[in-house]
Amino acid sequence: MRRMLGGLPVLLNVDYLEHKSDFHATEKVIFTGPIDEFYGFKHGKLAYRGQIRDHEYRPGVDSVYPKGQINTPSRELGDHVRVLEWKHMMEEPFGSSISGTVLTTETPFSPEDPSDYEYPFPDQSNQDLYAEYRALAEDDADNVLICGRLGEYRYYDMDQAIGRAMKLTSELDGWQSTRLGYTSD
Ligand SMILES: Cc1cc2nc3c(=O)[nH]c(=O)nc-3n(C[C@H](O)[C@H](O)[C@H](O)COP(=O)(O)OP(=O)(O)OC[C@H]3O[C@@H](n4cnc5c(N)ncnc54)[C@H](O)[C@@H]3O)c2cc1C
Repeated sequence: MRRMLGGLPVLLNVDYLEHKSDFHATEKVIFTGPIDEFYGFKHGKLAYRGQIRDHEYRPGVDSVYPKGQINTPSRELGDHVRVLEWKHMMEEPFGSSISGTVLTTETPFSPEDPSDYEYPFPDQSNQDLYAEYRALAEDDADNVLICGRLGEYRYYDMDQAIGRAMKLTSELDGWQSTRLGYTSD
């Protein structure tokens, strides 16, 4: 990370949208936050799913479940959608040497705060709403590139997110591909 960011000023814990007027891009802004928030939710809010995670340590219990992840899609089993039992995911003999067990229960909810956004909810009405925001972003494409899982309202696994970022940046005018070292001039 240090090598990739070498020579670039980095500001942490600053909400760009709250301080937009303090920043003046010489070329283009690359914004990786929620696209609807960028436009002040002017067409409405895109829906997301978040997860509440409850962690529980059970001392004196060897294990509760036979595997590391138990899915519980049926409402009859409760509101949670899965339980993780971490010791099953650890290498042996480390896993079985642990005293007690830790369970994490995940329960979905509809988040309001963008920092709780985890998964997009791409039903038709949200796809249509996203298309409206994307049209705004196309109009602003000379000044800003709105991208990433929140900017494109898509779930990306990490490898897909990195592949997408490399593709999008390679399409930018004046892109110096040597910075990441995967091609040379
Ligand atoms: C709960 C969860 C579990 C996941 N598990 C896996 C996994 O096991 N394996 C896997 O491959 N992938 C996993 N992923 C996916 C992976 O996290 C994403 O693919 C990757 O983080 C996407 O990168 P990104 O840059 O698009 O978005 P992010 O990593 O979300 O980065 C967006 C950045 O923009 C910043 N930002 C947003 N708004 C503003 C603002 N207004 N001002 C300034 N900065 C702002 C945020 O702070 C953040 O740093 C998981 C994702 C989630 C949500």
